[in-house]
Amino acid sequence: MTKLVGILGWPVEHSRSPAMQNAAFRAAGLDWRYEALPVEPERFEQLVRELSGRGFIGANVTIPHKLRALEVADSASDVARLVGAANTLVFGDDTVHAHNTDVEGILEALRERAPGSPNAMRALVLGAGGAARAAVWALASGGAGRVDVWNRHPERARRLVADLAPRTTAVLEPIAEPDLSAVDLVVNATSVGMAPTMGPQAGTEDRPETDFKELRLSADEFQDRHTVVDLVYRAGGTWLVRTARERGLVCVDGIDVLVHQGAASFRLWTGEEPSLEAMRVGAGDGAQDQGGEA
Ligand code: NAP
Repeated sequence: MTKLVGILGWPVEHSRSPAMQNAAFRAAGLDWRYEALPVEPERFEQLVRELSGRGFIGANVTIPHKLRALEVADSASDVARLVGAANTLVFGDDTVHAHNTDVEGILEALRERAPGSPNAMRALVLGAGGAARAAVWALASGGAGRVDVWNRHPERARRLVADLAPRTTAVLEPIAEPDLSAVDLVVNATSVGMAPTMGPQAGTEDRPETDFKELRLSADEFQDRHTVVDLVYRAGGTWLVRTARERGLVCVDGIDVLVHQGAASFRLWTGEEPSLEAMRVGAGDGAQDQGGEA
C-alpha cells in the first residue's frame, strides 16, 4: 500500500516540497506519496491526530504551524526543543514525535557550498523568528566563534540570545545594527526577499534597494571574504543572493537549504538515503515565482 507523507501549512500552495519529495521517492523506487495538506490553525491539532489513521507516516510543517507542532507533539528531539519549533513530524500508532531538520539543512547546505564553514567564523544572523533560531543554533553547533543577531524588533533578538547562549561556547550577541565589516558570514533568516514579482503587488517592493534597506545592509559593504546565506528562495534568487553572486561571493540560497532539510526529513521517515540531485531537480520543477520554505 502506498505510504503517505505531506506538508501541513496555511497557505501551502506555494510549497515546492511535494514536487521535491515525490521526485526523491521516485528516484529511490519507493511507493510513497507526498501531499500538500492545507490546514487552518484551528484545525491543526485535530488533523495531526487523524493523519496516522489515514496512512500517513509523518509530515512536514510550515508557516504558521511550526510552534504549535512542537506543542502538540508527545515527544521532541533536543534540537526541536532548543530551537522552539518543529518542521518535521513522525507518527507512531498513537504518538507524534517532533523534529527540527532546518538546523541540519542549514549546516549541510553550508558544508556543500562553503566547505570549512562555519568553523571559527564570525557570523551575523538577520532575524529572530523560528528560522533565525535554527540558523543561530546551526552556526553555534557547527563551530562558529561568534554569532551576532540583529532583528527589526530588538527585544526578540535579545530573547533568542538569552535562550541559546547558555547552551553553547560560541559568543552570541544581540546587536543594534548589522555590521558586515565585523563578520565573515551573513544569514538572512527574515522573510525579507519574498515579495512577488508577479500579480497586483509586483513592482515597487521588488527592488534590490528595498530589500537591502529592510535588512539595514548596503551592497557596498560586501567584501571578498563574505559568505552569504539566504533562507528565502525565489526563482532567479533573492536580491541579496543575486547581488552577492554578481560580486563573486560564495552563496547558499534557500533552495540549497530546502533540499538539505528535506533530505533530513526523508531519512527520518524512510530510513533511506535520498538522491539530493533528484530533490534539487524536483524543487526546481515545482518552481513558482514567490519563494518561501518547506
Ligand atoms: P517568522 O518566525 O515569521 O519570522 C520572520 C522574521 O522576519 C522576523 O525576524 C521578522 O522580524 C522578520 N521580518 C519580517 N518582515 C520584515 C521586514 N520588512 N524587515 C525586517 N525584518 C522583517 O518566520 P520564520 O519561520 O523564521 O521564517 C523566516 C524566513 O525563512 C521565511 O521566508 C521562510 O520561508 C524562510 N525559511 C526557509 C527555509 C528553507 O528551507 N529554505 C526554512 C525555514 C525558513 P520581527 O520580529 O521584527 O517581526
